[in-house]
Order: sequence, then C-alpha cells, then structure tokens
Amino acid sequence: ATERKALFVFFGGTGDLAYRKLYPSLFNLYRKGNLRSHFAVIGTSRQTLDDEKFRAAIKKSLADSGNRSDSKEATDFISHFYYQAHDVTNVAHYSVLKDAADKLDKKYKLDGNRIFYLSMAPQFFGTIAQDLKTQGLMSTNKDAFNRLVIEKPFGRDYDSAKELNDALSKSFEEDQIFRIDHYLGKEMIQNIEALRFGNTLVESLWNNRYIDNIQVTLSEKLGVEERASYYDNSGALRDMVQNHIMQIVSLLAMEQPVAFTDTDIRAEKVKALRSLRVYNVADAATNFVRGQYGAVNDQPDYRHEDNVPVDSTTETFVAGKLLFDNYRWSGTPFYVRTGKMLADKFTRVDVVFKRPLVDIFAFPQSQNTPLAANVLTIFVEPHAGFSLQLNAKTNDTGFSTEPIKLDYLVDAEKSKDTPEPYERLIHDVLNGDGTNFSSWPEVSYAWKFVDQIRRVWDLQEPQFPNYTPHSMGPAAAEELIQRDHREWIYRL
Ligand code: NAD
Repeated sequence: ATERKALFVFFGGTGDLAYRKLYPSLFNLYRKGNLRSHFAVIGTSRQTLDDEKFRAAIKKSLADSGNRSDSKEATDFISHFYYQAHDVTNVAHYSVLKDAADKLDKKYKLDGNRIFYLSMAPQFFGTIAQDLKTQGLMSTNKDAFNRLVIEKPFGRDYDSAKELNDALSKSFEEDQIFRIDHYLGKEMIQNIEALRFGNTLVESLWNNRYIDNIQVTLSEKLGVEERASYYDNSGALRDMVQNHIMQIVSLLAMEQPVAFTDTDIRAEKVKALRSLRVYNVADAATNFVRGQYGAVNDQPDYRHEDNVPVDSTTETFVAGKLLFDNYRWSGTPFYVRTGKMLADKFTRVDVVFKRPLVDIFAFPQSQNTPLAANVLTIFVEPHAGFSLQLNAKTNDTGFSTEPIKLDYLVDAEKSKDTPEPYERLIHDVLNGDGTNFSSWPEVSYAWKFVDQIRRVWDLQEPQFPNYTPHSMGPAAAEELIQRDHREWIYRL
C-alpha cells in the first residue's frame, strides 16, 4: 500500500462510532501500510481528557474489536493519538485546536494534509465547517488537501438538507466533502458494478426487455434498541430509504459510466435518479406502504419501547415501488422494503427475469410445471455471494424441468479478510476518491422523492401497530406486489 500523509481531526472523538468503528479501521489501514509514520490523530469532544487517558481508550477500542492491543504495532499506532477538549460551539476553541494541529503537522511532517471527520450530531456540522475555515484550521499549503467527512443523517427533508449543504459549501468544495453512506463501503454493494459492467451475460440483459422486476430488501431483526430517541424522529423512510436504498437502487439502475472514476460514476447515478418518477399524491399513497411492529411474548410493541411516545406514528417498516421513466427501465418496477423486528437480519437484491416468451415444454399432454423465472440474487450480508436460478432438466427418463441454482458464496476464510466498510471508506478519503460517497445532487434527488411520500403519509393517521414481530412486515407489503401479479422472492 502507498503511504498517505494526513492529520485526522475527529469531532465526536469519544463517541460510540469512533471507538467501535473508526479507530479500529484506522488501525487496519496502519497495519496495511496506508498509514505509517506520517500521520496523527486529534480526538476532540467536550469532555476533559488527557492524551494518556485517550490513548488508553484507543487501546481498549482496538482490543474490543479483536486486535492485539499490547503489540509493538498497536503501541506505535496509539502513540500518534492526541486529545483536545473542544466545544464545537465555542469559536475560541478552534484557535487552540489550530495550534495543536500545526504542531502535529510539523512533528509528523504531514505536508499540511487534513481530514476533518464529523462524527457527531448533524446540527453542529454547519458551525464546525464554518469555524474550521474562519479560524484558519484548513491548510493553505497549495499541494495539501483539506477533506471533510460527515456522518448521516444529511438533513431530514430536502429543505434542511439544502440548508446544511449551503452551510458546508461556504467552506468546502463539493469534491472536498465526503458524505458517508456505509452501505457504499460494503463489498457486495461495490460488487454490483463488477457484476454488471464486467459481464456481457449480465449487462446485455440488464433492461426492461429481459428483467421483469428488481427487489431490494434490507431486513433487520432487532427492534429500535437504544437508538429510540433518534429513530422516533426519523423513521424507516428517512433512516434507510432516502440514503442506503436509494444508493443501491441508483447503482442497479444507472447506465455504464464512461470511465471507472468517481466523477463518471456519480454522473450516471444522478442521471438515473433524475429519471426516477416523483409521485403525485395518489401514486405516493398506492405505491408506498408503512408499518410499525406490534408486541409478541416479552417483546413490547414499538410504542412501549423505552423513549418512544405511546402515540408514536413513526414507521418501523417501509415497502414501496420505484419507477424509472427512461428507455432502459420503463415498465420494470423496483420494489424495495426495509424494517425493524423482521424475521431475520440480511440485505439482498433479487433480479427477476422475464419468463421465456414461449414455454415449449408446456405442450398439451405435458405434466411439466410452468418454467420458473430466472432470478439473480446478490447476497450482501450476512453472507456475501451471488446465486443464479436457471431451469434445467430433471435427472430422469421423462422430460420435466426444475429450477436449479448456480451459487457463488465468498468463503468464510476470505470473508474474514473482507475490510469493514469504514476501513474502505476512510481509505477512499485518504485517496480523495469520492466514488463510494453520496454527492449532493444524489442526496437532493433522493430527498425530493422521499419528501413526497412523507407529505402524503403526514396527511393520514396510520393504523399502527400493523405487523407481527419476526414476520416480513404488514399485509400491505404483500398486497403492494401482488397487485402487480408478482411476489417477493424472499418470503417466509
Ligand atoms: P455519540 O453520542 O456516541 O457521540 C457523540 C460525540 O459528540 C461524543 O464524543 C460527544 O462528547 C461529542 N459532543 C456532543 N456535543 C458536543 C459539543 N457541543 N462539542 C464537542 N463535542 C460534542 O454518537 P455516535 O453514535 O458516535 O454517532 C456519531 C454520529 O455518527 C452521529 O451523527 C450519528 O448519527 C452517526 N452514526 C452513528 C452510527 C453508530 O453506529 N453509532 C451509525 C451511523 C451513523
């Protein structure tokens, strides 16, 4: 690996995400040589801590994520960490931070490269970006980079997202802003491009002539857990559809990029999202359904979870139909669904092909069951792989057909080495590669689509709860697809 020189400044540096994911990912990049001697990390938060205590916490974070934390390698890595108490709303604190940054830049010869990672409540993103600029934290060295990494959520509707983006863009250019969508760091999501653009067999059939429908399922087994106060303000539509699902769908729907670069890929994703039909009131109401989980055994219903109001109308489930008005996809719907407290935890994409136009095995005396549709499944998690369902002859003297599967599963030994999404994404930030981040135009089109669904939902009091825990959601999600004479490929 090529060593990259950089100073990382983490805002929210003592938070759960930083300890659980970000620092262990940095350590992996260090072990692989992407970071060596020319890097330093400043953790900031409101808490008072000294370097020594902060380093002890980093050591624990490495140990908790399954690393040997007393090795020479870990000790050397941890010696690059520094702590600075910093209230993001206090302008004066930024000049203290600037001095600390300049000092470390000299000490570790970082050439002025800076990565500001905002891992805290989004209401502070605007202020931080502004003060980083006005208080001189951004490096002015003309060969150096300044990059801003921000966590989700990016707004709660188009208007607030635009306001946030306007605030950020006063200090940072679009190509300096890295909006995290950790689904884009997943191996099998990145594999969609390889599968499509690396295989004649796939891409030549990848359109409305041969594909009947595409299904995207992000299923969670757990309920709202300790994120209730955040989640209740958001709901599944904002928390999962606007970002992760829209990103996956745009990778599935886009045209082939001119080249495999962030600029070209983003341009195609944006074009796809622009042709996504934004529903009018009537279509939004029929094409999207919502749910909230009820109670079962010891498991309380959503409204009786800790920190959830008893009259909450927040949806914990969404299913919907997306239509692209373009030459490739007109007439081929994308069905999506996601929810909490469902039957299992997994993410998958099912691409359902059209049946052969003529079924020659269905002659008058034939006992044969009608040909099944070919289905290409992309297993994203927990197991990574593909499966292709074809029709073949049964192994006997008569002539009947049966669906068989060609399976490719990434073996356990290999998947052990699969980098965590955050490791990949931080690696990309170090390399200035924006491919696996959401660009502002993508975010804005996704919000415009989602806002319309939300607007219609807000007109009506939902009948909640409406689904049983450990099911695949409310009956309405079945009706949504059955109405089109189709079925969910994954079913219980
Ligand atoms: P957290 O509450 O554990 O951490 C928040 C951090 O911000 C703490 O270090 C806290 O001290 C600091 N902070 C709060 N107010 C401050 C202020 N005024 N000045 C300086 N520091 C202040 O949150 P988290 O779970 O680590 O999440 C961080 C961000 O990442 C959030 O935007 C969240 O939406 C997002 N996110 C988290 C996860 C996750 O798995 N935890 C997943 C995806 C996205």
